[in-house]
Amino acid sequence: MTIRLATFIAAAALAQPAPQYDLLLKGGHVIDAKNRLSAVRDVAVKDGKIAAVSSNIPAASALKTVNVAGLYVTPGLIDIHVHCYAGTGERGSYAGDLSVYPDGHSFRNGVTTVADAGGAGWRNFEDFLDRVINRSRTRVLAFLNIVGNGMRGGRYEQNLDDMEAKATADMALKHKGIIVGIKSAHYNGPETAPFTRAVEAGTAARIPVMIDYGSNRPERPISDLLTKILRPGDIYTHCYSGLRGEQQGATGGPAQALIDGRKRGVIFDVGHGGGSFSWRVAVPLVKAGFLPDSISTDLHVSSMNAGMKDMLNVMDKFLAMGLPLDDVIARSTWNPSREIQREDLGHLSPGAPADVAVLKLEKGSFGFVDMHGARLDGSTKLIAEITVRDGKIVWDLNGLARERWDKLPAGYTHQGDAIWDAYGRARRPAAARQSGRK
Ligand SMILES: [Zn+2]
Repeated sequence: MTIRLATFIAAAALAQPAPQYDLLLKGGHVIDAKNRLSAVRDVAVKDGKIAAVSSNIPAASALKTVNVAGLYVTPGLIDIHVHCYAGTGERGSYAGDLSVYPDGHSFRNGVTTVADAGGAGWRNFEDFLDRVINRSRTRVLAFLNIVGNGMRGGRYEQNLDDMEAKATADMALKHKGIIVGIKSAHYNGPETAPFTRAVEAGTAARIPVMIDYGSNRPERPISDLLTKILRPGDIYTHCYSGLRGEQQGATGGPAQALIDGRKRGVIFDVGHGGGSFSWRVAVPLVKAGFLPDSISTDLHVSSMNAGMKDMLNVMDKFLAMGLPLDDVIARSTWNPSREIQREDLGHLSPGAPADVAVLKLEKGSFGFVDMHGARLDGSTKLIAEITVRDGKIVWDLNGLARERWDKLPAGYTHQGDAIWDAYGRARRPAAARQSGRK
């Protein structure tokens, strides 16, 4: 080929218009609660945002098209109760060794956003921000602990002197949008001060509180919390533990306090964890129609190796109790995004961040285990095939977006395009490659 011809061809290639979209997920069943959509649709992504959701978007209009027929396409899942303030080296602490780094657990479950539930308080939040939040590819948000030192163990968490509403609210306002709520947890004294101060901070910062009601005390029954202390929009987590009188008797439906709280607009969150989800509570409550507003894991180092496995496992449990898939997805996407006032997330409207989960609903025989080690059998199980974060594929279980190796040119090298693929972004910078640094 002459140089002139090569130049001409290169110029012609340059002159071709860029494809309209970066990434197209084609033929999947889209479930988007905000947009009241549950139907087969194509989802197109451009510049990290959802660009279009409609039937039959031509494959040629995208730089990369992935066939996701037979799979479900949902907003990236939002898990508002995790513990991910890892890396401080503090033993036996949720601001340390008991927490997990989010990226190792999120994308493989279709999760694109997590909220840490009180690992840090106002004294150590900015360490958490620098250590984990700003370094994670997962979108990490936080409930700020009303305890200034955060969730560092009993010595700190039982200290009423370190629960300051003003300092907590000030830090929350300083990082508005990342700090999405105030947390109180694990308090075992008879006082209501941890909860009233959390509400005080939440009111000042105009964000909700999330309550783990700690030890059950006759001086402060949950009816006080749910009908007097909490505001509409505040969140009661661990709602199927049964440990604080959530159930009527030992086998009944929801306690009157839960019914009254819900009537007032209190939000109920799962927060499964290692000790907060019991079949003998959840099954009768769900049967009585007391469903969770949001499904969340309470992921930490020990819960994830017990009955609670991961976000999809907790969602599977609600499928196993008979909730329709659309309903389970809504309670894992659009509901939690509204609870934490991040309505930019949890849906697939054009212009929204392109956080997407492509899920497979596997059929078979599966077992699901609760906090006591009791099993409930189910016939379906969700699997995350592809996860997209800000328009880029960050998880691809079976290589659906990949070419077969034997169809590629001999001696092929790095595949994918950084425009739609996180593989491209994960490569080392050129300078590092040349100098041979690892
Ligand atoms: Zn927790």
